Amino acid sequence: MVIGRFAPSPTGPLHFGSLVAAVASYLEVKTHQGRWLLRMEDVDKPREIKGAADAILHSLEKLGFEWDGEVLYQSQRNGLYEEAFNSLKNKQLIYPCTCTRKEIADTTNQFGIDGIIYPGTCLSHPLKPNVANAWRIKTNALEISFVDAIQGEIKQTLSQNVGDFILKRADGLFAYQLAVVVDDAAQGITHIVRGADLLDSTPRQIYLQQLLGFSTPHYAHVPVASNATGEKLSKQTLAKPIETSVANHHLHDALCFLGQKPPAAIKNATLNEMWRWAFLYWNLEAVPKTRQILADH
Ligand code: GLU
Ligand code: ZN
Repeated sequence: MVIGRFAPSPTGPLHFGSLVAAVASYLEVKTHQGRWLLRMEDVDKPREIKGAADAILHSLEKLGFEWDGEVLYQSQRNGLYEEAFNSLKNKQLIYPCTCTRKEIADTTNQFGIDGIIYPGTCLSHPLKPNVANAWRIKTNALEISFVDAIQGEIKQTLSQNVGDFILKRADGLFAYQLAVVVDDAAQGITHIVRGADLLDSTPRQIYLQQLLGFSTPHYAHVPVASNATGEKLSKQTLAKPIETSVANHHLHDALCFLGQKPPAAIKNATLNEMWRWAFLYWNLEAVPKTRQILADH
């Protein structure tokens, strides 16, 4: 049984970049008779925009997506994250850290794929008193590799490329990396199709899956849509919300972006006809093997 998911963060309305990820995971799952689940990644409450979760669900509905089961909200699942966190803590894999960003930047100039590599200060120095602490997971020098169905073989050595990363922030919130791994396992996700901006996070997630005894799903990372200055389309770069009155055109554009070649004749087809074409001709192999593509949305 193939189980996939779409996991938007409610930090703004659905835009073309997130639509592309939704379309790809939906088609990949549904053309394998699978279940497609929706998960609202609202664990980072301070970043949430009021009403965005409902707006996203509304847009998805208007675009013709049919998800299986209830929508899951990460904000209601702290207990599960706590459990996973405690099991890692009991294995002595986690340590408290009271360093500020500035202190870390002042102690090291080692950069990895995701910014500064934490130099492990709090492992060998006393914590600062009376300061809320974050919790980091120890990484190691074992290479983590996986084969992405679109991007090919990916290899990373966490201690060199990332460093000890945060699982629980100083404000008490669990980090995306932990929540996503716990939920993908709890929901039995077998096939993750998402934007290539998360490709570099995948080895961290595989590492956590291994430590927590979860199996590793199959991964496929589709290119992300970027604007003319090379920035990923996102709420931060003020990507335009999807206008669902022309849902058929958005689906058409998303299919083209994903390397599918809907015939010119269906350019103005109805939404239903467009989906029917997509179900018949969806081909993961046609998706461009690149991390980013310019999109004029
Ligand atoms: N919530 C994440 C985002 O909107 C996606 C997480 C995932 O697909 O793993 O970027
Ligand atoms: Zn520290």
